[in-house]
Order: sequence, then structure tokens, then C-alpha cells
Amino acid sequence: MDADILQCYTDAGQIASRVLQETTGHASRNEGTSILELAMAAEARIIELGGKIAFPCNISINEIASHYTPPANDSLLLQKGDVVKIDIGVHIDGYIADTAATVEISTMDHADLIDASKKALENAISITCAGVNTNELGKIIEDTINKKGFTPIYDLTGHSLGQYSLHGDLNIPNYAASYGNTLHAGDVIAIEPFATYGKGTTGNGDAHIFSLGLNKRFDKHIRDKHNNKFNTHSNGLLDDLYQQYGYLPFACRWVKDRDGVKIEDYVVKGDIIAYPVLHETSGGIVSQFEHTVIVEESGCTVTT
Ligand code: MN
Ligand code: MN
Repeated sequence: MDADILQCYTDAGQIASRVLQETTGHASRNEGTSILELAMAAEARIIELGGKIAFPCNISINEIASHYTPPANDSLLLQKGDVVKIDIGVHIDGYIADTAATVEISTMDHADLIDASKKALENAISITCAGVNTNELGKIIEDTINKKGFTPIYDLTGHSLGQYSLHGDLNIPNYAASYGNTLHAGDVIAIEPFATYGKGTTGNGDAHIFSLGLNKRFDKHIRDKHNNKFNTHSNGLLDDLYQQYGYLPFACRWVKDRDGVKIEDYVVKGDIIAYPVLHETSGGIVSQFEHTVIVEESGCTVTT
């Protein structure tokens, strides 16, 4: 990997790791904290430390597995006993660090569940190197979680990362999947095991996170390549989103209202993709840990 690119990944990883540590630390000590304030503080801290936000801070509580970022009118407060997953994304020049951890607010009732996804991540990292198949990572994740008496979430996966690309071509399953890809030196992947008391599948709720649709239809028909503008009647909404976020995810609370133009309308047309809140189907509490790692010939480097 080019030294400049490696530096970007390293710096993004350090910022993400620090912000995650500070945010989980604050959450675990401060029952009653507004999760809207917590998310906004984490995002502001990323900027303060010299990074850019790769995606909205996710704060997913109990049976919510992921993709909850508080909307502008959110009134949720952290409560004693909550199992809280905080997921932070930072980029520098588009090179992304994606990292998550789980904390329990003022209790220790779910320590084993939390430990299961943490150990699964550690074990997966311990075997990550060039030549390993992604389904071997899935197998060690599943085995680790099962041995502790829990179930992995089968339909959520880790993923490869690219410049300005949060979900690349590779998936890292959280079980011994029948599919898989061989890892190569220089691949950058986010490994993110989820463990639950439930059956291990997810369903969709409302969406508070969106991105511009990165697909051929979008580039060919929506964006006018000549003037680099989106050729639609969106009152400049799509142009503004592209200028600010490219194809990276953004929170609805970041987007200013404008007359007659709603993000949701463009979701229906396919120009904007919605990322619905994912909740465990059977209502089981969920834990998650995540690191970003660079694959090497004889091991890997954790950037976060
Ligand atoms: Mn993440
Ligand atoms: Mn991820």
C-alpha cells in the first residue's frame, strides 16, 4: 500500500479509536445522557481531532442492532441497564476507519453477551492474513459466539473499505457461510461480529441514515457529467448532498429543510438509498464490536 494512503488509514483509525473510547466512556458513566447530544458530540470531536465524518454516529440500544442515529427531534436518554452499541466512522481523504464497541449502562447483567462479540472479533483478527478466506473468519466468529451460548447475527456482515467507499465488494460473514473470498495483502476490511440472545436475524425500521445512490442509473441519468451537476428538479438538494458527502452516508438531521423537497421522495425514485434501523427480529438484545484492519502477507494491522 502506498505510504500516503497508509498514513491516511492510520490517522483516521487513531481518531476513530479515540472518539469511540471517549464516547463509550462518557455513555457508560452518565445514565440519563441524551443520545442526540452524545452523537453530536462524537461527530464534533471527529472534526476537532482533524478527521472527517465517514457516516453519522450510530447509537443502537438493546434489540436495535445497528443504523440508529438520532433524528433531530430525538428524545431518547440512556437508561440504567441499556446495552448500547456505538459505531464511529472517520475518514481522511476518503480513507475510512469504521469501529464500534458495546457498553452497558451502570449494570453488569449482559457482560457475557458483550464479551462474546468482543472475543469473536479478537479471534477473527488473530487469524486474518493474506490467503485466508472470509468464511474462515465467519466460522471463528460463529464458533466463538456459540461457545459462549449466544447466536451471531447471520444477516449482518463486515465489509471491505475503499476510498470514499464504505461497503466494498467483500463481505465478512459472521458465520461459516457457504460463500467466501480470499483476502489479499492490502485489502482493508471492517470485521464486525454481532452476538444476541435472539434468533440472529434482523428486520427493518424507519431510516435516519441515507446516502446518494451509487449505481449506474444514478451516474448515467441523474448526474450531468458536463457540468458535474445533478440533472433533476431537486432544488439543488442532490447537488448539495453530493458536494458535502459524495456517496458516503449522511444523517437526515444534517440536511436542511427546503421547500417541497424531501429526502424520502428521492428514496422512492432510487436516487437516494435509505439505511433503515435494523432490529433483532425476535427482540433479543444485541452486542457488537468492530475494528478496521489492513490485511498483510503474514498478519494484519488494526487501524482502530
Ligand atoms: Mn461500523
Ligand atoms: Mn462496518
